Amino acid sequence: MITVLKFGGTSVGSTEALKRVANIIIAEKDDKVAVVSAMSGITNFLVSALEDKNVDLEDVFFKFEERHMNVAKELFDEEHLALFTKEFNERLDEFKTLVADKENWSDPFFKDNVSSQGERFSSLMLAHLISSMGHKSVALTAETAGVYAVGNPLSGSCDLKKTSIGMGMNVKPILENDIIPIITGFYGINEDGKPLTFGRGGSDYAASAIGNALDADVIEIWTDVDGFMSADPRLVPDAVVIEEMNYSEAGELAYFGAKVLHPRTIEPARMKHIPVKIKNSYRPENPGTLIHNFRKKRDELLKSVAMKADLSIITIRSGEIAYRPKLMAKAMEKIGEVDTVYGLSTSLSTMAFLVHNNDVPLALSGLRGIDFEDLEGIDIKSGVTLICAVGDDLLDRNGFSGEVFGAIKDIGANIEMISEGASDVSLNFVVPTESAADVIKVLHSRFISGGQ
Ligand code: ASP
Ligand code: MG
Repeated sequence: MITVLKFGGTSVGSTEALKRVANIIIAEKDDKVAVVSAMSGITNFLVSALEDKNVDLEDVFFKFEERHMNVAKELFDEEHLALFTKEFNERLDEFKTLVADKENWSDPFFKDNVSSQGERFSSLMLAHLISSMGHKSVALTAETAGVYAVGNPLSGSCDLKKTSIGMGMNVKPILENDIIPIITGFYGINEDGKPLTFGRGGSDYAASAIGNALDADVIEIWTDVDGFMSADPRLVPDAVVIEEMNYSEAGELAYFGAKVLHPRTIEPARMKHIPVKIKNSYRPENPGTLIHNFRKKRDELLKSVAMKADLSIITIRSGEIAYRPKLMAKAMEKIGEVDTVYGLSTSLSTMAFLVHNNDVPLALSGLRGIDFEDLEGIDIKSGVTLICAVGDDLLDRNGFSGEVFGAIKDIGANIEMISEGASDVSLNFVVPTESAADVIKVLHSRFISGGQ
């Protein structure tokens, strides 16, 4: 049995947190592989240093070193501190060399390289900590473990086939020798051997990809909450932890709002039917949320309600656009420049897109480039929020949307856009932002906590 355990920035961000994490890893009975983020705040710190035109590199390295070494001094006795410091300094020298060479700065993958440096140091610290506690452990980078990536700078995807060869060659032999590998999250190595990151928050995805490549039996995402909740507890005080969900439900929720898990984490695990567990590193005794292939008939209509605010609806009006699918395709292509299209809805003569407020200018400049012979106009409605109601098998539940929309009518909220039918685990619709909290509350009280 192989368990992959992933720990995020807060879990490796302080002396106390690191000790807690080391104990969790040691207590795991299966063969285990840990995947870690950078210490909390470090990736942001590196990214802002890269963006600062007047950056004082000496100061950056001073602070970077100080943050790590302060924790290391608390963690290690003299002997282990000396061992750790030696390796730490070697890595820091490599990092300094990378940045000192001005030619590197124009490399398209330079930002990936710099922003992923934090992971190389947090993994080193955790491996040393576990060793100092009497268990054999080794820190591996994506380079030495064999985690491979493909794609454009700052938005790579894991090359699962190559990574599985890497894991077979580099990680499995370590496990066979009862040594615990601690691997960097967040990035892989591209075809040219350069670091390529998986997007911000990408260590969850890295852990899932590593789990896939290792044919792991379970992937545990250790975080600072108890798991997926039935709603945001700040809005709904009686929200509960969801004990079990299937991959699609978790994927929709992660994608639409719940910040528990990076949305891309689900796919590599789902491909090989590997269960994913969300666990709280502050309360390891809690069961957390188990995500797997699972369908169970249950009474409550919904499992969770989430929302995504700061969105805008962009509507193009063009006579009988529905009879001109090529024009629709063109509009899709032009809007494709934006980061994410959260929703899409069409009618005979309109086509509406739901995008983030920040993406509106980009979307508009794309759409204006189209030669619509009979474009009647483009409308924008800002200040809207997407509500995502998740539950299994929704399409088969007779009268389901009627009930949901009836509840929303009862509180007097207006529904601005609806997307139903694309997924049988989620009903997504848009309401004015000022009504969003009330919508979440009424759906939770009627269809989750209170029954019907
Ligand atoms: N350290 C990276 C970030 O902050 C990756 C991660 O934490 O998942 O984005
Ligand atoms: Mg995270």
